[in-house]
Amino acid sequence: MEEKNFVSGSTLYLVATPIGNMYDISLRAMDVLRKVDFIAAEDTRVTMKLLQRLEIKKELVSYYEHNKKERGIEIVNRLMNGESCALVTDAGTPAISDPGEDLVVLCSENNVNVVGIPGPCAAVNALTLSALPTGKFVFEGFLPVKGKERRERLEFLSKEERTMILYEAPHKLNATLLDICKHFGGDRRIALCRELTKLNEEVIRTTLSEAIAFYSDKQPKGEFVMIIEGTSEQPNDEPMTDDIILKKIDEYISDGRSSSDAVKTVSKDFGLPKNTVYSLYLSSKE
Ligand code: SAM
Repeated sequence: MEEKNFVSGSTLYLVATPIGNMYDISLRAMDVLRKVDFIAAEDTRVTMKLLQRLEIKKELVSYYEHNKKERGIEIVNRLMNGESCALVTDAGTPAISDPGEDLVVLCSENNVNVVGIPGPCAAVNALTLSALPTGKFVFEGFLPVKGKERRERLEFLSKEERTMILYEAPHKLNATLLDICKHFGGDRRIALCRELTKLNEEVIRTTLSEAIAFYSDKQPKGEFVMIIEGTSEQPNDEPMTDDIILKKIDEYISDGRSSSDAVKTVSKDFGLPKNTVYSLYLSSKE
C-alpha cells in the first residue's frame, strides 16, 4: 500500500535510528530525514556517518546532555517559526535514556507538534529475546551509579514482580551484577543481551550467580541490556545487606563451623556466589 508521506512545518519528529545494523533504518525515517529543515543530533559525528550512508545532506545542530537547555529553546523557537526538525540520538529511539525527553517536554509546553517515527529500541529488542515474561515489564534504564541512592533503588526493585529492563555500560557490568545479586539473590533469572543487531550479537539466558561466574575471569565487551525476572516471593521486610550476610557467617562460626564452611553455607542460604561472600568476609576482617 502506498502511504502518503509528507513533513509538516512547526513539527518535531522523533526519528528512531539503528542500534547497530544499518538495515534497520525505516523507509519513513529516511524520508523524514530527507524532508525536514534541520536535524538535531546527540553527536553530530555519529549522525553524519548515518547521513553519509543514506546519502542525505542536511543542516545538523547538536543537542546533547550538556547543551540541552539553551539549545532546546533555540530549536523550539525555530519550530515555532514554522520549521520542521528531526531529533536523532546516537542509537535507537530518542527520549529513551537519552536527552530527547526534555525536548519533548519543551515542545509540549509550547504547544509544538511532536510526531514519533518508531524503530529500533535496545530495551524492547532485548525484552523480546529474553525468554522471560513480556506481558508485564518495567523499564529502569541505568541504575544510580553509587551510594545510598543505588542501594535504595535495588532494594525497591528486589520486590518488583514484573520483568525488569536495565541498561549498563560494559566496564560497570560485573559490579552491577554483584550488587543486583546481593539484593535479588543468585537464583533470579537474567538474560544478558549483548551487541544486539550487530555481528557479535549474543543472548545469555542464565541466573544472576551464573552470570557473575561467567564474567568472573573476563571483562564484558560491547553494549548490554539486562533483562531480569521479577520476584515471585511474598514481600520480605528484611533487606539483604552486607551486615546481614556477615552476621549470618558469624552465627555459623559461633555454632562451631569453620569460616570456609560458614561462607559456603551462607552463599547457599542467600543464593550468592561463594567468591562474593568470601570477599565480603575477608574485607570485614581487614
Ligand atoms: N535510546 C536508546 C534506545 O532506544 O535503545 C538507548 C540509549 S542509552 C544512552 C544506550 C544504552 O542502550 C547502552 O548503554 C546499552 O545499554 C543499550 N544499547 C544500545 N544499543 C545496544 C545494542 N546494540 N545492544 C545492546 N544494548 C544496546
